[in-house]
Amino acid sequence: MNAVEVRQRAIEGARATRMFDLAVIGGGATGCGVALDAAARGFSVVLLEATDFAQGTSSRATKLVHGGVRYLAQGNVSLVREALHERATLLANAPHLAQPLAFVMPAYKIWEAPFYGAGLKMYDALAGSRGLGPTEFLSASRTRELLPTVQMRGLVGGVKYWDGQFDDARVALALARTAAVKGAVVLNHCPVTSLVRENGKVIGVVARDAIGGTELRIAAKCVVNATGVWVDDLRNMDREPASAAMPGIVAPSQGVHLVVDRAFMPGTHALLVPKTADGRVLFAVPWMGKTILGTTDTPRDDVVREPTPFHDEVEFILRESARYLSQGATRADVRSVWVGLRPLVKHSGDDSENTKSISREHTVLVGRSGLVTVTGGKWTTYRAMAEDVLERCFDRQLLPRRAAGVTVKLPLVGAPKTASVSMTAPPGEHLYGDEAGLLRALPGADHWLWRDAESGQGGLSEAMVRFAVRHEMALTVEDVLARRSRLLFIDAAEARRQAGAVTAILAEELGPGFDAAASQASFEKLAAQYQRAP
Ligand SMILES: Cc1cc2nc3c(=O)[nH]c(=O)nc-3n(C[C@H](O)[C@H](O)[C@H](O)COP(=O)(O)OP(=O)(O)OC[C@H]3O[C@@H](n4cnc5c(N)ncnc54)[C@H](O)[C@@H]3O)c2cc1C
Repeated sequence: MNAVEVRQRAIEGARATRMFDLAVIGGGATGCGVALDAAARGFSVVLLEATDFAQGTSSRATKLVHGGVRYLAQGNVSLVREALHERATLLANAPHLAQPLAFVMPAYKIWEAPFYGAGLKMYDALAGSRGLGPTEFLSASRTRELLPTVQMRGLVGGVKYWDGQFDDARVALALARTAAVKGAVVLNHCPVTSLVRENGKVIGVVARDAIGGTELRIAAKCVVNATGVWVDDLRNMDREPASAAMPGIVAPSQGVHLVVDRAFMPGTHALLVPKTADGRVLFAVPWMGKTILGTTDTPRDDVVREPTPFHDEVEFILRESARYLSQGATRADVRSVWVGLRPLVKHSGDDSENTKSISREHTVLVGRSGLVTVTGGKWTTYRAMAEDVLERCFDRQLLPRRAAGVTVKLPLVGAPKTASVSMTAPPGEHLYGDEAGLLRALPGADHWLWRDAESGQGGLSEAMVRFAVRHEMALTVEDVLARRSRLLFIDAAEARRQAGAVTAILAEELGPGFDAAASQASFEKLAAQYQRAP
């Protein structure tokens, strides 16, 4: 059975199911987490994603599995404690995709190291036995050893602390695949177009199979709206035909990242600037053989699939990172630019434009119709969010109560006992964990389409493209080059160069129904956008 037939069987399975316990709309961190938690508790679940798993915000994070040092500075101890707890859980359940990472805060004023160090000791205390390593005070020379290109002028020392990093898109995919192993029907490229209502209650959804072009009508006892910055669109599908539009609960805030070569910051430590000249936080994070610089926090009123960066955002990241690195990057050095929209939840009655003052915690709302909406929060806390969602479903008697905690020690698909290669290394077979053997058995395991030039290791093989289709539900060139492989995110020009080769393999795998020319052209247009730092 090829990938298209597998998908068709899943669609038929969804059609044949008289009534699901739960229909989850949105295949980002939140929706995939809810689907897995519910399936692991034995509920029948269907997960419907409009485009691809993690295509929205969940593939555009800073890649940190973290408690959130800046939330500690804001005094949000409960959020930090929960996130530190969840950090350890994710690192244990997906060691091939989420690992500890050491951070260094360079200090240029005499008070900085003791001040931030004291806060970080508290961070360690909140993590308790789930800490990843102790905070350490560093001399200027040790700071330089760990960050070889740190700006030495005026450096007086530093502080080292621990957090985690991950491959966000592949973790979302692993959550969806693990939910499928637990019995959930999971479908990407399947947007929900309307909600089915009866006597004022939501009793199901109508979705469109964007690949086959047919409609699916799905009945469910409980419908969860986990569509990130799009939750208000779904909430507006849930109203009486004549009633006025509902006020939005989400204030999107845009965050930009720039990717540059590792030469700008060699080594395996990340750099954190807790307070830039204008009071923002700046990260430089080694990831997949490159360095990620970011991010920004800019309010936006439009919600688009592929938001573009503003000139000032790029300027801010380049200017501020240049103050802390001995050689600053320029626009010409940028390998990829990506933009994500945070689904920040507005406090009621707060029409503030300042998104930094809006809640970063998640919100779960249950409408009069029974539609459950969840948004906000952080990637790191997706599992705790899923438990909260199910708790609300039980409270409202949409589902019969079943015990929580089933995902605490639930390894995700592919999870090995321990990880052998760091997430800071170029992408390669290590990201497949226990499934590396399955990957190597596919045709083209030693045929490399792209190799990381700096290390001569890792890269993208023909077998990885075949694996993406056969085992990871990839259906377009973008699914492969943006989220199964992360080449678009680390080197957009290279990803564009590989589009033709990837299209040819997809055409073989997906057969005559695959519109090769359209898929390639659409990806090349996207890659051109990621190449440009305005
Ligand atoms: C710049 C930036 C950096 C961040 N960095 C971090 C970090 O380092 N660590 C961390 O913990 N958190 C981080 N976050 C937060 C984190 O990324 C988000 O909280 C999280 O990804 C939100 O996931 P989500 O599933 O709610 O939304 P999304 O990922 O946007 O998922 C929603 C999904 O719903 C789908 N959808 C929409 N409409 C429909 C429909 N009609 N039918 C079916 N599907 C639909 C969309 O296609 C989308 O895939 C960051 C956020 C941003 C913006």
